[in-house]
Amino acid sequence: MADKPGLLERLAKGVVLGAEGYVFELERRGYIKAGPFVPEVVLDFPEAVDELHREFLRAGAEVMVALTYYGDREKLKTVGREGELETLNRRAVKLAKKAAAEGNALVAGDICNTWVYDHNDKEASSKKVRQIYTEQVSWAVDEGVDFIIAETLDYFGEGMLALEVIKSFGLPAMITFASVQDTLREGISHVEACRLLAAEGADVVGLNCSRGPGTMLPMLREIRQVVSGYVAAQPVPYRTTPDQYAFQQLREPGGERLFPIALEPFLCNRFEMADFARQAEEIGVNYIGICCGGAPHHVRAMAEALGRTPSASRYSPELSLHPMIGKHVHEKDEEFLGHWKD
Ligand SMILES: [Zn+2]
Repeated sequence: MADKPGLLERLAKGVVLGAEGYVFELERRGYIKAGPFVPEVVLDFPEAVDELHREFLRAGAEVMVALTYYGDREKLKTVGREGELETLNRRAVKLAKKAAAEGNALVAGDICNTWVYDHNDKEASSKKVRQIYTEQVSWAVDEGVDFIIAETLDYFGEGMLALEVIKSFGLPAMITFASVQDTLREGISHVEACRLLAAEGADVVGLNCSRGPGTMLPMLREIRQVVSGYVAAQPVPYRTTPDQYAFQQLREPGGERLFPIALEPFLCNRFEMADFARQAEEIGVNYIGICCGGAPHHVRAMAEALGRTPSASRYSPELSLHPMIGKHVHEKDEEFLGHWKD
């Protein structure tokens, strides 16, 4: 245990590559219900979680994030499984830990926006959020996580509560905001929220989810200017634009909203995510990852863009060996080439 460098030691040496998007990917695979997005898969098909951890690990992820996103008491109530709350949370960490051990990766506990916090009823709602975070973090700590990620927070106040709870357990805290608006719900900008959280002692601050590379990068530049500590960025791999800056807003001209289960027309390819990783590194982002919509092929391309050779690189593309678009097209196929190259 002692010889595994922790999050802060790794960040001091260079970029840490993360990978998330478990809920979206396991929904696509048929193990999570879109709508509630409660990670029931941990209870019902743990082997599917185990497999996805391993795929991200092979692709180069250095952190296995326990699938406790939306695995809190309030969320489990919505699917009638509150009685399995502790089992889900403990098992999720065990699964992440098992996969991490195969590749010297870190294990992160995970908490997120609760949908309970209300800045107009701060005192009462804070009490509830604190309870939710405390029970989740205590199980995660008990199972042996290395640090805690609090993510997709759209209230600054909820970020402060997350920080308070994580610090009470003495673990490194990574806190990232996401908002469908161009500010957090209290009206504070994401940039200012990151600055304040870092000043309050959050070890890593930044953004995740909601925005794709195109609309997250400009904000990262601003955050980098005001935060001297570590910065994290885990965008969604979708082509968001200044007009539709969050993936919840994406729609084709005259079309319906595509979030959350018809977003494919806007999906970034692996090259775009590799490019994001390079640009984020250039800006000075320390923890680079991906969120909802991300899949192992994105992560491998990002790892390679950062100069790494994860184990899945053994099967990285070698298109010169393709029978038709490769270098050695047989004479008999020459006449069909037009169909491939036009
Ligand atoms: Zn996400």
